[in-house]
Parts: sequence; structure tokens; C-alpha cells
Amino acid sequence: MNTKRMMSSGNAARGPWETRLQSPSPAALEEVHRLLAGRTRDIRLSPELTQLFRERSWPHTAKIIRAWMFWVIVLDVLMLGLNAILLTPKTVLSMLLPASCMIPAALVTATTFARPQTFWVRGVVILSGVFLILLCLAFVGIRASNEFYERHLTIMLFVAVTAIIIFPIPVGWTTAISVFALGLFLLFQLRNPNIEVGSALAGTLFFACGVFATVVARRTIVILAHKTFLLELRDRGRLAALTDANTRLELLARTDPLTGVANRRSMAEMLDRLWSEDIQRTRGVAMLMCDVDEFKKLNDSLGHAEGDRCLVKVAGIIRNSIRDEIDQVARYGGEEFLVLLPGADEGTARTIAERIRSRVEAARLPNPASRVTPYLTVSIGIAVATRDSKSILVGQLQRRADAALYAAKNTGRNCVLVYADEASRGQI
Ligand code: GH3
Ligand code: MG
Ligand code: MG
Repeated sequence: MNTKRMMSSGNAARGPWETRLQSPSPAALEEVHRLLAGRTRDIRLSPELTQLFRERSWPHTAKIIRAWMFWVIVLDVLMLGLNAILLTPKTVLSMLLPASCMIPAALVTATTFARPQTFWVRGVVILSGVFLILLCLAFVGIRASNEFYERHLTIMLFVAVTAIIIFPIPVGWTTAISVFALGLFLLFQLRNPNIEVGSALAGTLFFACGVFATVVARRTIVILAHKTFLLELRDRGRLAALTDANTRLELLARTDPLTGVANRRSMAEMLDRLWSEDIQRTRGVAMLMCDVDEFKKLNDSLGHAEGDRCLVKVAGIIRNSIRDEIDQVARYGGEEFLVLLPGADEGTARTIAERIRSRVEAARLPNPASRVTPYLTVSIGIAVATRDSKSILVGQLQRRADAALYAAKNTGRNCVLVYADEASRGQI
């Protein structure tokens, strides 16, 4: 059976981090359990988990940031339109430069976040993009002058707060955005000819309290997102373990425990599949029924344990004598093995059967009480359903292989007989 292929097939199409996410390493899982056992507020992801979290949340983060950038462009255009109604054409013209600088800043940031980037590129781009946008907004305010000056600075803070709330970025970056916004607000308010220094300071302090509360809330959201991520990893770990256990269990249910080849149940399924796919009719199929000669005598003379060892060796010889990936072998009964050769004609079946018989004989496994030779031998009956023959039932083919085996036993054992051979005819 292709055990290795069965075990590894699931991961082939996934990228490296997705694979790591599907089956987290034991060390990562241990860290996950440790963090989940503690208090939520104490959750601090290890570097490996941080990396996984970033990769996991990247598409979501990138989408939000891109949407925000487009929203900023729309807001910029609307603001300019509104100012055109409220202010003089000369003032509006002077706003054009800072207002139009905001658009490329937002577009460059949105474009950068449309493709995968390293962590530091993302950080530099988002921080400088937001900083430029806020700076442009402040300059639009300066150009507006009078009461519009302060109004634009408040809009700038509002824009910054939306970024603080919705950007799922590290708390350090969120803090940097709030420091930019408050710093720009204070700087431009101090230069605002319409208000006193005290009023500028008080206004900044007031907004700083609000921004601080927002950053703290953002930090809580980040911790909760980390916790959700840890729960997801724990579930994935459990699912991977369960899938692994199921695969092993399934394999055990299909494998003969002594010889390691497929068992009778598994062979019955293979036969069903072969017949339901109609392969026996379209490609033909051959069946070998192999039976160890005088095996009871081997058990009686050398003991059951030695008999078991011989069965393992015979199974190994059969497995090595058939065609990889095409043929199947199963332990069908005590000392009987059934071999299935899809697409094989009589000649191929004979060649493979003879290879098995001669190799078992050449292995010189002692069977001192045997009446055939003092070594272990096998007899093999072959039944073939050719491509040209009419559809044949599984049971019929099996009975033919049995009949050929029976004839081989009667012919003196240690030989190969095909059902069509004279000796086996009339047995079914
Ligand atoms: P023949 O050449 O006609 O096939 O003779 P035989 O002795 O091989 O056949 P028979 O059916 O008389 O005996 C089969 C023996 O295989 C009987 C049983 O004790 C033995 N056997 C069946 N399963 C096992 C097993 O798992 N281990 C061992 N050691 N012996 C087994
Ligand atoms: Mg037997
Ligand atoms: Mg036997």
C-alpha cells in the first residue's frame, strides 16, 4: 500500500506558512497551550507565533488599509469641493497643492499593500503614508485660515483616529500614528494666529486623552485577536492530531499485523473498486492465489514462531516480486496470499508468479518435514480476465484462481498453474 503517499498528500498545494498553520510545530503548539493557560491580558506571542500571526492576518490587514486609503482620497476630493463652495477661489487654489499631494501618498500606500511585502516595508510605508496624509490635511487647514484652520486640524485628528481604530497593525505602529497626529495638531495650533497658546495646549491635551483611550482600546483588540489566533492554532493542532490518528487507524484496519501487507478486507475493497471502475473489462486483470506448501508441517516441526517468521519473509518476497504502484498483494488467509495484477495478460501473470515461486524456493527457508523439498515452497494458481473476454465477476475469477491452485497442489506443489491449463480445467 502507498502509505507514504497517503500520509503526505494533503500539504502539497499549500504555501510554507499555510502548511505551518495547518500543522503547527510541537514547540509552537506547546507555546500556544502555555499562553492559553495564562491570563488573556498577559498573552505575548513568541517570535515564531508573531510571524505566523502576521502572515495569517496580512490579507485582512492589507484589505482594510487599502479601503481606508481610498476613503481618504474620496474625503480629500469632497473636502476640496466643499471648500470651493465656502471659500474664495484664491484660497481654494492655494489648497490645491497640499490636497493633491494626499492622493499619491494614499495611492502609493494602497498599492504597496496590494502585494506581499516584508514586515519592515509595510511598517515604513504605512507610517510615512499616514504621516504625509495628516501633514497634507494640516496644510490644507493653514491655507483655509480663520475658523477653517482649526476645523481642518480637527478633521486631521478625526482621520488619524479612524486609522488608529481600524488598522489591525502592531500597537507600536498605532502609537506612532497617534504621536504624529497629536504632534502635528499641537505644532499647527501653536502657529494658529486665531488662538492663544494656552488654548492650543488645552485643546491638544483634550484630544490626547481621547487618542490615548483609543490606543488602549486598540491594544485590547490586538490581544483579543492574538487569543483568537491561539485558539485557532490549538484547534488546528487538535485536528491535525485527529486526522493523523484516523489515518493510522485506517491503515491499521487495512493492514495484516503480522506481515504488513494488506489484509483480506482491504483486498475486498480493492476488488470492488477495480470492478466498479470496470477495469477488469477495459484493461483486463490477473489474479494469483499463492499458498505455502506443507506449512502445517513447518509449524509442527519448527514451531509456530518460526512459521510466523516464514510468513513474513514470503510476504516480503511477494511484495518485491510484483510491479510497484500497479499490483496489490494481500494476506488472504493463514498461509495464503492473493495478488492482483491489473492490466496483466496471461504471459505477465505467469512471469510474475514464476518469479515469486522461484524466489521463495531460492530463499531456502527450512521446512524439513515437507514432502516437496526440505525448504519452503509455494504453489500458485492463476486466473486471467482478458480485455477481450466478456465481463467476469470477482467471485468467478477467485474461484478460477482457487481451482488453478488446487490443481497446482495436485500436480505436486511448488509450481504455477493457469486456470486454462489442462490440469485445472474442469475444477470449476
Ligand atoms: P498444503 O501444502 O496443502 O497447503 O498444506 P498446508 O499444511 O500448507 O495447508 P493446511 O491448510 O493443512 O495448513 C495450513 C496451516 O497454516 C495450518 C495453520 O496452523 C497454519 N497457519 C495459519 N495461520 C498461521 C499463522 O498466522 N501463523 C502460523 N505460524 N501458522 C499459521
Ligand atoms: Mg491454505
Ligand atoms: Mg498451504
